[in-house]
Amino acid sequence: MSAPSPVPDPTRDCGWLDLHLHSRASDGVLSPTALLARAAGAGLRAVALTDHDTVRGLAEARAAADAHGLALIDASELSCTLEGENVHVVGLGIDPETPALLDLLTDIAHRRTARAERIAERLAAAGVRDPLARCRELTGHDGLTRTHFARLLVADGVARDMRSAFRRHLADGRAAAGRIDWPDCTNAVAAIHAAGGIAVLAHPLRYGGTHARRERTLAAFAAAGGDAAEISTAAPIDAARGRIVAACRRLGLAASAGSDFHDPEQRWIRLGGLPPLPPDLTPVWALPAWPVPMPMPPA
Ligand code: AMP
Ligand code: MN
Ligand code: MN
Ligand code: MN
Repeated sequence: MSAPSPVPDPTRDCGWLDLHLHSRASDGVLSPTALLARAAGAGLRAVALTDHDTVRGLAEARAAADAHGLALIDASELSCTLEGENVHVVGLGIDPETPALLDLLTDIAHRRTARAERIAERLAAAGVRDPLARCRELTGHDGLTRTHFARLLVADGVARDMRSAFRRHLADGRAAAGRIDWPDCTNAVAAIHAAGGIAVLAHPLRYGGTHARRERTLAAFAAAGGDAAEISTAAPIDAARGRIVAACRRLGLAASAGSDFHDPEQRWIRLGGLPPLPPDLTPVWALPAWPVPMPMPPA
């Protein structure tokens, strides 16, 4: 007898949703309106706007989502520190008017501005003209990120492309990056919970250098009150991801799905291409705190 063919499970299919997207409200290149139009055009039905340390893009995104009939999950990607490591925590389904959340975002914004001034000094010393003012002009808001400075380096011909701008100047440990202490992860998780949201460890494969280190990061995130980790991403489904999936099962973490889209020029990240979730992990949209009914996947 042949084995039964696998039954497609619409609750694990992620080709029609994306819970990690950036707009110009932080370091993406598209406006929230253009991003949501692109998501709808790619066949997505549910999206979360997860701009870094801000909720400033959500009102515009809401209007665009309504116009396209997309389910929009209010969200933000928070910068924080977990056992000495800088990590990103996506808060899904947050109420963007929650005072505890807004207080934390203000704290992060101050740290961001102070770091941008340090980065700008170092880039000016390296010959970049007027980096802080030009960076502010580029963003139109005060959420200055390393991505914006990297774009200046590329525009000035100091770096060939974004990859090399980070590798040579702005990656952790490089001269222009400087050190930054973000708020503790426990505070970020608490602010997300106070806002009614679900705390998701973003891109867990990007931390540490070893499997063991990444598993410790996941365990520390669970101990800090975290709810889930990103499992369906643009990264390949390989042994490293298998270790993350196994750790989530052990730790009782649920699973999210997001591409971390910033820019249509990043050809390796396309909207609408996320792989299904593995069995035995609870999708974030099945958790009690999930905020909106999920639309049915396309037939
Ligand atoms: P910041 O929050 O200011 O530290 O900037 C971090 C952002 O820089 C991330 O959200 C990414 O979008 C971007 N980034 C970090 N490392 C790289 C890299 N190696 N290549 C391209 N973009 C990167
Ligand atoms: Mn980014
Ligand atoms: Mn991130
Ligand atoms: Mn991101």
